[in-house]
Amino acid sequence: MNYEQLLKKSQKEALKYQKEIEAVKLLLMELSHQDPHMFYLNLKNEVDTSFLKMFESKLELYLKEDVPVQHLIGHAYFYGHPFLVSQAVLIPRSETEQLVEEVLYLYDDHFENKDIDVLDLGTGSGCIGISLALEEKHMNVSISDISEEALEVASENVKKLNANVKVVHSDLFQKIEGKFDIIVSNPPYIPNDEVVDNIVRKEPHVALYGGILGVDFYERIIKNIRPYLKEKALIAFEHGYMQKDVIYKFVEKYLPEASILQKQDLQQKDRFTFVGLNIDLTT
Ligand code: GLN
Repeated sequence: MNYEQLLKKSQKEALKYQKEIEAVKLLLMELSHQDPHMFYLNLKNEVDTSFLKMFESKLELYLKEDVPVQHLIGHAYFYGHPFLVSQAVLIPRSETEQLVEEVLYLYDDHFENKDIDVLDLGTGSGCIGISLALEEKHMNVSISDISEEALEVASENVKKLNANVKVVHSDLFQKIEGKFDIIVSNPPYIPNDEVVDNIVRKEPHVALYGGILGVDFYERIIKNIRPYLKEKALIAFEHGYMQKDVIYKFVEKYLPEASILQKQDLQQKDRFTFVGLNIDLTT
């Protein structure tokens, strides 16, 4: 059997289990250590039997046990970089890449070329904070998480991607010291009783659930954030598509003088809230 035949056969199987054919292609490419270019050039090559066995056992875990492909290959691409992932962290999502991009734009608009301090609260794999540090050398980034297991993964990513990032073990602000120009967070925001896909259920609960309405972390963060912000500062959140209004109300309650900007993701879902202190985000 050649790679093309194996791909077709596996994708047919994926459809039977209502799984994604693109994920199957990714699994095959990554496990055979080929980039897309090499993969297509080598489609007619024979698959050797030991590889076939290994591939089929991993494919089965994806199709029948709902193990995410990113866990099977051990990494996920985020903002152009491979981030290690494991059962201890949320798999980085594409919406979150947009959060990084928006923060980089806001930095250009409001901080120009200044050196600034940035905190990524609840960093998980480290994807947000590490990407910011890699993209913008003026950002002095700290990343934190309550989960020590997640921080092990994040620290590996800091090392592997050669990022200049400080790692802090902290339950929200508990162990955080100093003041920041930008605090960014994509905390757990799924309502406790929401039913998620089997494959999402394989991700850590501590990274997924955010209380009855899913907004507990936003309130805790906004309520306690002021001492950790410099006079001129920006907060950037990703959130669930139905949480826009309640987050707006938390900001009005705890940071009444702040300027607020809310944006949609590429699927036109209300996904981001930006809060400016002594920064006018409305212009
Ligand atoms: N901040 C991390 C991310 O964006 C982790 C998010 C989480 O675990 N809720 O992927």
